[in-house]
Amino acid sequence: MERTLIADCAERIGETVKISGWVKTRRDHGKIVFIDLRDRTGVLQCVVTPDTENYEELKRIRPQWTVDFQGIIKKRPEKLINQDLKTGSMEMEVKEFKILSEAQELPIDISADELGLHLETLLDFRNLTIRNEKVGAIFKIYAEVLRSYAEYLRSQGFVEIKTPKLLSASTEGGAEFFKVKYFEREAFLAQSPQFYKQAAVGSFERVFEIGPVFRAEPHFTSRHINEFIGLDAEMGFIHDSNDVMDMLEESMKHILTDVKKNCQDSLKLYNSDVEIPEKFPRIRFSEALDILRKEFGKEIEGNDINPEGERLICQWAKKKHGSDLIFLTNYPWTIRPMYIMPDPENPRETMGFDLLYKGVEISSGGQRIHQYEQLVENMKKKNLNPEDFSSYLEIFRYGMPPHGGWGLGSERIIQKILGLKSIKEAILFPRDVRRLTP
Ligand code: ATP
Repeated sequence: MERTLIADCAERIGETVKISGWVKTRRDHGKIVFIDLRDRTGVLQCVVTPDTENYEELKRIRPQWTVDFQGIIKKRPEKLINQDLKTGSMEMEVKEFKILSEAQELPIDISADELGLHLETLLDFRNLTIRNEKVGAIFKIYAEVLRSYAEYLRSQGFVEIKTPKLLSASTEGGAEFFKVKYFEREAFLAQSPQFYKQAAVGSFERVFEIGPVFRAEPHFTSRHINEFIGLDAEMGFIHDSNDVMDMLEESMKHILTDVKKNCQDSLKLYNSDVEIPEKFPRIRFSEALDILRKEFGKEIEGNDINPEGERLICQWAKKKHGSDLIFLTNYPWTIRPMYIMPDPENPRETMGFDLLYKGVEISSGGQRIHQYEQLVENMKKKNLNPEDFSSYLEIFRYGMPPHGGWGLGSERIIQKILGLKSIKEAILFPRDVRRLTP
């Protein structure tokens, strides 16, 4: 008999079907055994009675065994309907079964709606904890974010590219690179696709990449990990950074709209209601400093707005503009990389921006310098040696359009949509300072 998915059982009431999946829980009620079976589409209560073929054998079944069940789909009596379960108004009366594989006794219980595990335990037993529906829901939403991002940018004429992650030199001259042995040489893991996506603009005008980004920063925060998936984009023939912000804003709205529309079941598990502002406010970096000073009595030490500052600015944006997202524009020249275009009206500032979402930066971007001489000059001003960037500079010898783009952190989007305490929950198998397994 062909397999029926659990979500399709509602249309098969009264019929004999075969379902396949994992045993989520089993409850013995005297001679009757209730087994909740999970497949990729849902969970169904299956009832085993002494009439079931090989009843004694079936009673051995334990959580996480994989099985085929064959039986009749029945409506549950009114008083036994489980409103919390999509399939709560039906059950299968099991007639026959086949054990596909057995499971050892589980080291942790993963059947509860709310696992309530310490983060390290949740990650130590990741192979198992991702089988929990609430944990699994994170990655259904994640997949929707990736799909939606790519779909939107394709619709806007962007070409998807993949750039190398093994580099001969540290691209932006920072100290945050992982070194790896590359045959007889040393290589570095890419800390951003920046230079390659700019080169690709030279051919395709508009490109995007969904790919791994490696950062060797020894962070112990709720928003950093050492390998994440960047949603990058770069576009040519822009007027200025506003065109880039417009595109990023539309991309984010598209993502949030799709998640809200297509992931209702998953969002419900987190009591998450995705709000999509009509317009993301844009304020200058210097204005943000004024707001922090005047509204919150916070003086920012150093050049950049710290995590607390980001949180307060988002609080302000929510109150003043009813928006969970806000752009900070015109970042100071001193804290932006050498390839960011200085503001033509004020060289102390740049055409660089950040996008914040519910208290955290989720994206950095801006207009790039597109002329060779200006780029060399900017490198020198930043005490960088242009010779160290000869291959990058090549791009600009052969005619580049005014262009700009962004790097957007996919996991931070999920973390903020669902209100996850740590970004590590938003990654299937996260890598942090201490963790290289599972
Ligand atoms: P932060 O100031 O929060 O450390 P950053 O300025 O180093 O971030 P960028 O280099 O501008 O970040 O990277 C672009 C985006 O990539 C960020 O806005 C964020 O969404 C994501 N990102 C950067 N670093 C990390 C990280 N270590 N872990 C997860 N996501 C990150």
